[in-house]
This record gives sequence, structure tokens and C-alpha cells, in this order.
Amino acid sequence: MIEFDQVHKAYEVEGRAIPALQPTDLAIQNGEIFGIVGHSGAGKSTLIRLINLLERPSGGRIVIDGEDVTGYGSDNLRAFRRQVGMIFQHFNLLWSKTVEDNIAFPMKLAGIYSKEEIRARVKELLERVGLTHHARKYPSQLSGGQKQRVGIARALACRPTILLCDEATSALDPQTTQSVLRLLADINRELGLTIVLITHEMDVVRRVCDRVAVMDAGEVVEMGPVTDVFLHP
Ligand code: ADP
Ligand code: ADP
Repeated sequence: MIEFDQVHKAYEVEGRAIPALQPTDLAIQNGEIFGIVGHSGAGKSTLIRLINLLERPSGGRIVIDGEDVTGYGSDNLRAFRRQVGMIFQHFNLLWSKTVEDNIAFPMKLAGIYSKEEIRARVKELLERVGLTHHARKYPSQLSGGQKQRVGIARALACRPTILLCDEATSALDPQTTQSVLRLLADINRELGLTIVLITHEMDVVRRVCDRVAVMDAGEVVEMGPVTDVFLHP
């Protein structure tokens, strides 16, 4: 479970504190697909970047599976980051590396996997995302949907328990969005992964999310099952 206990965040800019997230309580259950919606500037990215400690909270506690991670130093952080995969709107792939090398990259970086483990895992992930025949290509030779599949495979490489998706389908056409969402739902079901996804597309939320938080001006203004939040009169 991902728990926020009165977590808040202000960015320090030229000595001034810019508030981005008001004190927030959250409990995201293991295995659920949790959506975060809201206008630009509402605090969605800040919230998701707090979950993997890319940003540090200004106050409050972040507890993952019962463990307080708020004060994690660099040693704990390395292991913790392997537990949390992330995918991005613009994929953030390495353009000079092949598909298979992009997927292998986080495992190599981790320094705890043998060559054989990496090779076997990459093969398995290529199959899972349907890119086996594109393993030796470069990202520039792929469609947007295929690039995001590489992003997903890379995010899964170190067997995370949490997958964070930051506008992961926003750069894709509706048909490609559908197939990427289907893949995410399969991964959620088959691997039992917790998925937290930011989107400005209501259709994405309705299609895959179990629960949703609506954010506005740094606050969670509504939270609940998708059917309750979006279908009431
Ligand atoms: P969203 O993802 O919903 O668009 P953000 O979390 O990116 O919202 O931003 C929330 C607020 O925090 C905005 O006012 C934004 O300008 C500000 N903000 C975000 N990141 C930074 C940063 N690195 N430095 C200063 N202000 C930031
Ligand atoms: P889209 O998201 O519309 O499919 P691309 O995947 O082509 O667009 O690009 C996503 C991001 O990666 C953009 O910011 C783009 O500038 C950058 N990018 C694309 N191709 C390359 C490349 N060969 N080398 C470096 N950066 C690239």
C-alpha cells in the first residue's frame, strides 16, 4: 500500500516557497489502478514524483508497504527505486540504444543481475509487450505505440511492485492509446502490480482505473471509485 500522511510540498524558487501540494492523505491499495486527474498545474506530477522520491516532501510521511520511506538516504533509495517503475508521455528512451539495450539498461545500471539473467529477462519482456521482432531496432524506427511498449518493458525490467505512468498515452492516437491501456490492464492483472496513472483524458480513467483522485490547485478535491466520482448527477 502507498500511504500519504499529511504530505505536502512547496518548491523553493529564488528563496520563495511555491506551494504545489497541500497536506494530503492517501491510501492506494496494492494491485489497484489508481488514476489522478486535474488541470495543468494542479499538482499531479508533484504527487507522483513524491511516490518514487524524485521529489522530497516539505512535510508529512510517505509509507510504502508499512515502511516509512520519507527519510531514505542514497543506499535505501537505490533499492527502493527498483521497486518503482515509471513511464512517460515522451517515452524518455535512449535514442542511440536498440530496443533490447533500452530494456536491459536499468538492470545493467542496478549492478545486481548476471548477463544471463538480463538476457532472459529482456527476452521475456519483449514477448510480453509484443516487440520480439523489433529487438534490434532503434527507437526512431518505431511508432509511438511501440516506443511506449519499450518504455513499459524497461519500467518492468527490475520487477517493480509499483508502476507510475505520467500522461503515458497523451502523445498517442486513440487506437494506440487503447492498445497501450489494454497492455497496462493485463500487466496489472497478471503481475498484480499497483499502477498509479496521471492523465487529463477522462476516457482513460473510465477505461482502466479502479479509483480516481481529482486534483485542483494542489489539493485532492475528490476521491473514490471511478463510477462514484464520474457518474453521479
Ligand atoms: P501538474 O502535474 O498537475 O501539471 P505540477 O505538479 O507539475 O502539476 O505543478 C504543481 C505546481 O508546482 C505548479 O504551480 C507548478 O508550476 C509548480 N512546480 C512544479 N514543478 C516545479 C519545480 N520543479 N519548481 C518550481 N515549481 C514547480
Ligand atoms: P512523439 O512523442 O510525438 O511520438 P518522438 O517520439 O519523436 O515524438 O519524440 C519524443 C521526444 O524525444 C521529443 O522531445 C523529441 O524531441 C525527442 N527525440 C525524438 N527523436 C530523437 C532523437 N533521435 N534523438 C534525440 N531526441 C529525440
